[in-house]
Amino acid sequence: MTTTQTAVPEDLRASVALSENMFIGGQWVPAASGATLDVEDPATGEIIGRVPAGDAADVDRAVAAAKAAFPVWRASNPAERSRLINRLADLIEENADELARIDSLDVGMPFAEARYVDIAFSISILRYYAGWATKINGDTISPSFPQSFGGGPFHAYTLKEPVGVVAAITPWNIPLMMLVKKLAPALATGCVMVAKPAEITPLSTSVLAKLCQEAGIPDGVFNVVSGLGSTVGAALTAHPDVAKVTFTGSVPTGKAIIRAAADTLKRVSLELGGKSPNIVFDDANLAKAIPTAGMAIFAGAGESCIAGSRLYVQRGVYQQVVDGLAARANEIKVGPASEADSEMGPLVSATHRDKVASYFELARAEGATVVAGGEVHGDSGYFVKPTVLTGVAPDSRINREEIFGPVVSVIPFDTEEEVLAMSNDSDYGLGSAVWTQDISRAHRMAAGIESGQVWINTYQPVDPALPFGGYKQSGWGRETCRESLEDYLETKTVVVDLG
Ligand code: NAD
Repeated sequence: MTTTQTAVPEDLRASVALSENMFIGGQWVPAASGATLDVEDPATGEIIGRVPAGDAADVDRAVAAAKAAFPVWRASNPAERSRLINRLADLIEENADELARIDSLDVGMPFAEARYVDIAFSISILRYYAGWATKINGDTISPSFPQSFGGGPFHAYTLKEPVGVVAAITPWNIPLMMLVKKLAPALATGCVMVAKPAEITPLSTSVLAKLCQEAGIPDGVFNVVSGLGSTVGAALTAHPDVAKVTFTGSVPTGKAIIRAAADTLKRVSLELGGKSPNIVFDDANLAKAIPTAGMAIFAGAGESCIAGSRLYVQRGVYQQVVDGLAARANEIKVGPASEADSEMGPLVSATHRDKVASYFELARAEGATVVAGGEVHGDSGYFVKPTVLTGVAPDSRINREEIFGPVVSVIPFDTEEEVLAMSNDSDYGLGSAVWTQDISRAHRMAAGIESGQVWINTYQPVDPALPFGGYKQSGWGRETCRESLEDYLETKTVVVDLG
């Protein structure tokens, strides 16, 4: 154990220490270069861990281990894969509090958010895909070849086959769940995986690797290479033996991945950023809409791709919503996850805190009014205050760019047409919500909004059965849901002349 661990509660030290090695082919190994990266507690800035800084040599080892495990895993009995995925879910459940405390320490999110979003959702995703493992089938097809083709009669069918080695590159905001969304369908379909967690939040990924081993998932099926995106991520994306990259993160990195994957024509799926509109009409149930608008932007300190960061409010109730939201922002208890009454933790890093704080300055420079927050919080750690802005021009940078922090613009509107145009005037299209009692208007809005999710009189309900993904620059493909399985499968068409 290293001295860095004095900042880690004693009962978590053994699990945190797992990250001091990578997990390749069932072995815990250092980076080939011996280099390491520090991991910080964002609530204090203290070093809590040290992970290997992998590079292309480590990626080669991990991809080779995954490739070697593939023939056996793809040929394994689907019911056995289902059992192992369920077993992994059981183990996560048994270790749920510890995993939640680790992600809470690493990311800064309050324990309840870690336990009931990150960990609970990871468990339900695994159980959902455990069910699919035994239901991945092709079709039988009746082809209509012209008589001149000769022969026949013909029988045709499709086989669904796993694509092979999948590289999963994940972000720092909800570490375990972001990875499980990729691992569960990969395991169900018979794919093997090399995961690269975000370099600043790698801790729970190593615990997941340990639990995979404990569950009995064969060595080499799941591998972890820690390190920087520019080295490990780039090497995975370019590797000729990686068949598919599944990525969650920022738009610029998503574009870099597409470019790097082009040379080997890998499949790429992308869950990227958002600037989600939350639209409140005059007839909305404000007793629910106002607190939910607060949750939509302040949960997870706004470090959420579906944060409701553009709040459009119809003129008749505009001031009431602004006042209610500002009151909510001012009463949120900002503090470290180690204090039980903290409702909002720190941002994940000094760099990210500085980025979010730069938007406070930008908002003022662009003429916005800060009605709550608008500044950093406290003297240590990377905290900012929940922030509500008015007077934001729809076309301003503050209203167009993803801030990925607890910062919401509240913008008035008069008509349905106007708010639809403003909502869709964005490079993104991930989440959206509409608050109204008028059922026809709700469905008109749902049809008109350009985004992967539309929530009516609610915000961000998630379920493994629901497709999740974005329009426009919010990404390619859908995660969770049945259709995501296709991303991990090849379709082979077989035609038989029965004559
Ligand atoms: P990021 O793009 O900087 O990093 C994400 C991951 O990509 C990290 O593991 C990083 O090391 C890696 N990476 C960086 N450069 C790379 C490269 N050139 N090649 C390969 N991998 C590389 O994003 P972030 O700062 O970790 O996360 C914040 C962003 O993620 C936000 O924009 C947010 O909207 C987005 N996000 C989206 C979703 C979603 O589901 N759509 C969920 C969470 C976060």
